[in-house]
Amino acid sequence: MNKISVLGAGTMGRGIAQASVLAGYEVVLFDIEQGLLDTSLREMFASIDQGVARGKTDAALAGWAKTAVSTTTSLATAAQADLVIEAVPEKLDLKRQIFAELDANAPAHTILASNTSSLSISAIAAATQRADRVLGLHFFNPAHIMKLVELVRTDDTSEETAVSAAAYVERMGKTAVFCQDTPAFIVNRVARPFYGEAFRMLGEGIADVATIDKLIESLGFRMGPFRLIDLIGCDVNLAVTQSTYSAYFQEPRYRPHFIQQRMVESGRLGRKTGRGFYNYK
Ligand code: NAD
Repeated sequence: MNKISVLGAGTMGRGIAQASVLAGYEVVLFDIEQGLLDTSLREMFASIDQGVARGKTDAALAGWAKTAVSTTTSLATAAQADLVIEAVPEKLDLKRQIFAELDANAPAHTILASNTSSLSISAIAAATQRADRVLGLHFFNPAHIMKLVELVRTDDTSEETAVSAAAYVERMGKTAVFCQDTPAFIVNRVARPFYGEAFRMLGEGIADVATIDKLIESLGFRMGPFRLIDLIGCDVNLAVTQSTYSAYFQEPRYRPHFIQQRMVESGRLGRKTGRGFYNYK
């Protein structure tokens, strides 16, 4: 594998592209508007420079990396890669539509992966004629730093596909954890009740946002639930909770909370909009 395409230049796509190019892959970043791609590239380059300044990234590698990332608004162009990783919004219809189009345009050997947090990889793969070359590659936020990647296999994912994808993950210095295609996989399944209980405590007036975060952080967590949701995006967090709840047939443990809904309705999505549970302006 030499060439990786990343679809969606948002929070996750940018980090996946950065981790991939710094591992020596040629990267193509796709989004719906050139303006979004330009902003994303600027932020990625600033983050790479930061890595150099901190002595974490080799300066020559950083220089090469900036020449090895290109951008496109054409899905057919983005499909011309050895591995395509999709990181567009958490909507099944959108992902299925993109995978069908990728399947029609990509070379026969291309592996198609989704970074979905909770949607069914089987349902996404069914939109293609190459289910053996479809899998989930679930990165964590921030994707250029977090080491864990869930490698999600369906009943149809071939051994060859899983082995190639694991080699890609390892070349980035990350750890691949294999899991079956089950709703929310491993980490997000465990994380739902973590967020859910925090929302219930907040909703019942037991403690405020800062107190709940501070308590959890005092136990050794890097971030409390609300600080973490602001990093992830309240919209992404709600979408994942809703799809997990529905995929487990309304299991009460995974039930969304109205506070999540209100945050999204009011546009307080977290760091990306400058305001979430905390103010970033
Ligand atoms: P985001 O909103 O930051 O970025 C999504 C990007 O997709 C945007 O740049 C948007 O312009 C682009 N986009 C929208 N419609 C598109 C289309 N039709 N074609 C191509 N691009 C389109 O979202 P994100 O947080 O990066 O999440 C992306 C995916 O990664 C979701 O499936 C999400 O569940 C998953 N994920 C998110 C996190 C997280 O912490 N945010 C963690 C793991 C996985």
